[in-house]
Amino acid sequence: MTPVLVINSGSSSFKYQLLDMDTESTLASGLVERIGASTGSGTGLGIARHTVHAAALAAPDGPAPTVVDATRTRELPIPDHTAGFQVMLDAFASDGPSLEDHAPVAVGHRVVHGGARFFEPTVITPLVEINIDELSVLAPLHNPANLAGIVAAKQAFPGVPHVAVFDTAFHQTLPPAAYTYAIDREVAASHRVRRYGFHGTSHKFVSEAAAVFVGRPLDELRQIVFHLGNGASVTAIDGGRSVDTSMGFTPLEGLVMGTRSGDIDPAALFHLARRAGMSIDQLDDLLNKRSGLLGLAGSNDLRDVLAGIDRGDEHARLAFDVYIHRLRAYAGAYLAQLGGADVISFTAGVGENAPLVRAATLQTLGFAGVEIDPERNAERGRGIRIISTDSSSVTVLVVPTDEELEIARQTLSVART
Ligand code: ADP
Repeated sequence: MTPVLVINSGSSSFKYQLLDMDTESTLASGLVERIGASTGSGTGLGIARHTVHAAALAAPDGPAPTVVDATRTRELPIPDHTAGFQVMLDAFASDGPSLEDHAPVAVGHRVVHGGARFFEPTVITPLVEINIDELSVLAPLHNPANLAGIVAAKQAFPGVPHVAVFDTAFHQTLPPAAYTYAIDREVAASHRVRRYGFHGTSHKFVSEAAAVFVGRPLDELRQIVFHLGNGASVTAIDGGRSVDTSMGFTPLEGLVMGTRSGDIDPAALFHLARRAGMSIDQLDDLLNKRSGLLGLAGSNDLRDVLAGIDRGDEHARLAFDVYIHRLRAYAGAYLAQLGGADVISFTAGVGENAPLVRAATLQTLGFAGVEIDPERNAERGRGIRIISTDSSSVTVLVVPTDEELEIARQTLSVART
């Protein structure tokens, strides 16, 4: 057994997953949230949810047990991340699996921003921590939260390598033409303003899984991956290398998302500042938290938008149409960048579960050899599956993403060297 612990830390919560990398199965997972709720002006309790997965109970080399996953939720004061990690350790001790029998050989951390500095998984030394902290300038909401998780996890697991896996790393292969904004180059350089791209761990996992599924070498394939969750991005991948991606300097650019606007003329913001007197913080809030599907239709959840369309809600209809219009624009752009595609994949909450979105996105691409099979597209399934016709020259797939597994793989790959 080769256990690896994966941590995805936010400012007031963190998720964890313990995987056995011999079988790539999840032994336990959990979420610690509302960290700090009991401190300062907060009066609530933190919440810790711990799930022991059936795989943890399997005998070595034995058949999978018939038991189901078991989850326990606790409410208790969790003043900070260090306390949160103690709660996690207590949950392992009381509910299992025992961390003595399943001691992690390495801990992998999701880190949102690696700037132009980190292009591969990196063992976290004190210098790397300083660099992640310094990159908080570019990701003020995310990097400090990721770092809080790293500091707490190093206290909880002092004797093993901790590895940072960056959301931006996969996009470090973007060519300058794709990552450069056409603004004054000295201003851009002195403030590091360029496109970085995000969701890289997912785009890498999905494009590699797709290549294995179609049975062709990754370096021969032109791929387009649509990661459509609450946040959403699309990436053009040539021979396994990201060559264009829709998110930019921050995860705000590109597609219409749950609460984010995606692409908008920046001059609209100058107008709102001058005419409506909106501050920078208000504009930030507007575009990041009150736009996208939420801004147009009143809910950030695509299921609500689809239900609204069924009820005849015209705002929901327009929200869906804008969402699809943008997806098609990127599909067309990336077909042009790649000179056609061999594989197109859909992943994340919307991509895996909304056949209507997949069909509408690709509906007009018959000229490029894309043919969706309506029955295959409508079928619900759990694993990776094909939704194009047998005669389609582009293979279209639904590929469930697994960012934790990808982080664990990358963590192990550097922890072992
Ligand atoms: P995150 O970006 O937060 O990780 P997910 O990848 O979990 O998000 O995607 C969440 C979104 O997936 C939800 O907001 C919802 O819009 C969408 N979604 C989930 N299930 C369905 C479904 N059956 N049909 C349509 N959309 C769905």
